Amino acid sequence: MAAAQKKDVEVYHEQHEDGSLKIYARNNTEVLQSVQIEATFKGMESSDKLPILKTVPPGESIYYFSLKPVKNAYSYNYQFTYIKGDVTAVHNDDVVYYLPYSQGQSFIVDQGYNETPTHMDQFALDFHMDEGTEISAIRDGIVFEVVENNNKGCPRQDCSKFNNYVLVLHEDGSIADYSHLEKNGALVEVGDIISAGDPIGISGSTGYASGPHLHLEVYVMRFTGQQSVKAEYYLDKNTVGIPKSGKKYTQEMD
Ligand SMILES: [Zn+2]
Repeated sequence: MAAAQKKDVEVYHEQHEDGSLKIYARNNTEVLQSVQIEATFKGMESSDKLPILKTVPPGESIYYFSLKPVKNAYSYNYQFTYIKGDVTAVHNDDVVYYLPYSQGQSFIVDQGYNETPTHMDQFALDFHMDEGTEISAIRDGIVFEVVENNNKGCPRQDCSKFNNYVLVLHEDGSIADYSHLEKNGALVEVGDIISAGDPIGISGSTGYASGPHLHLEVYVMRFTGQQSVKAEYYLDKNTVGIPKSGKKYTQEMD
């Protein structure tokens, strides 16, 4: 069935009786969007200094600013950029993350922060684990995005589009990415509120993956893309640090 596709984010205006224009952004997606609006105009005054950046919750419209004609002849044009997530997020570096699997389980890190071949300039971790392993949340949050319909993986970039994943938004606006889940391997839905340790997915090898593993990354969103965060973990009950490749870590949460 053919249907007109709604744009993810729309910027529009309402004209008021005094001739002024009120500019709004509408988020048509299910996830928080950062939207920045700029305008060029002649013969008008803006109510606020431009550009203006705001975060727009899923399904909502938010007022940005007004343009008011001050001459008989006037013209205007507005432009906007947007990206999912909160580009103003500042990661709380005091947070210590839990290992992404259940109590008593142990897994080896295959690839650590900033390591070759695929984590260069990226603070991401690959935990080597058989397909079908239960993944648990590393921190409290709200489920931000879920993709679980893919059934394919390969060790090449062009397989990235087959990645199944769960994204969880944290209180500070950062996002945790749990990737390469098996088909229908998400145990949560968008909007679910979860606590650290809750089961959220089943591991697999979908997407850009050379074999079964969990790719885990915490990042903040910027207009230039994802900026990963050097997250620290409970390596065991008493040790906080960064998991290193070649080492095995046991979940000792309780
Ligand atoms: Zn990885």
